[in-house]
Amino acid sequence: MENILVTGGAGYIGSHACKALKTAGFNPITFDNLVTGWKDAVKFGPFEEGDLLDRGRLDEVFAKHRPVAVMHFAALSQVGESMQKPGKYWRNNVEGSLNLIEAAASAGCKRFVFSSTCATYGDQDNVVLDENSVQLPINAYGASKRAIEDMLRDFEASDGMQSVIFRYFNVAGCDPEAEVGEFHQPETHLIPLILDAVAGKRAALTVFGTDYDTPDGTCIRDYVHVCDLVDAHILGVKWLKDEKGSRVFNLGTGEGFSVREVMSKAASVTGKPVPCEEGPRRAGDCTKLVSGSTRAEAELGWNPQRSNLENMVADAWKWHQTGHYDK
Ligand code: UDP
Repeated sequence: MENILVTGGAGYIGSHACKALKTAGFNPITFDNLVTGWKDAVKFGPFEEGDLLDRGRLDEVFAKHRPVAVMHFAALSQVGESMQKPGKYWRNNVEGSLNLIEAAASAGCKRFVFSSTCATYGDQDNVVLDENSVQLPINAYGASKRAIEDMLRDFEASDGMQSVIFRYFNVAGCDPEAEVGEFHQPETHLIPLILDAVAGKRAALTVFGTDYDTPDGTCIRDYVHVCDLVDAHILGVKWLKDEKGSRVFNLGTGEGFSVREVMSKAASVTGKPVPCEEGPRRAGDCTKLVSGSTRAEAELGWNPQRSNLENMVADAWKWHQTGHYDK
């Protein structure tokens, strides 16, 4: 079985990726510092604890497992926090990724699947975004991810590093079998926060801004199911193994939902009202982020199956009710 090194394999998206890799016949090696990940989410292959800022530890892990490809999820990913503590984001995300790319290149591992973000596009006056849209991030999180994309292009020129870069829109939902799920501490993402409010685990959801230039005044996002998202990553590994060359793909559905629309879907799925209050805008938030691209479907053969809002909220609710992470 071929080894794939999965950084951040103990986190939300990484743990779902490990499950998908195992199902696809690969052996996922999780590399995670457990700062935002959870050891008990590592269920599908070996675990190597380590930090991307520790280049020596990375070299050890590459030498031990000789992965055929890297899937790089490990990152700090909160837009709001990145505006308060940009240095933390530049150090962890950019310096950490530089170590990883250099370690991979020197170990001869030249296939790299990178988790980038629609936040690299920034706020573009309600345009629908495709892979050729200009990248003008308005927060440090997006800027740190754009820098890593640039780095991968430089290492392709110098070392032949081949990359598939996925720019995610808003990842949501959970494994429908609830073997793994979403749990951040603290939680900052919309759907789990809504479900916490529904379940009485927090008093109310604060809607960040009701004066945006959108039909109901709240921000619009394109939500994609985590299982569909990780399926694209498996296709990304195959793409690189087939030597199809470096490529960027947006992963979204082309459909946007406002914060209020997500709340109303959660109320209908759970059968309970969503306690909420209106608050000010959150620094760094774009008005609307919707993916207009069909490149992943046309070229990769990506066929998202679960990415409708109802499934995403229902799967997240199922996971929420397991009480797995009632810590
Ligand atoms: N949001 C909100 N209240 C919250 C958390 C998020 O109104 O407590 C909004 C946020 O402003 C954004 C959308 O929900 O418009 C999605 O935010 P999230 O943090 O889930 O993902 P992001 O878009 O930052 O990647």
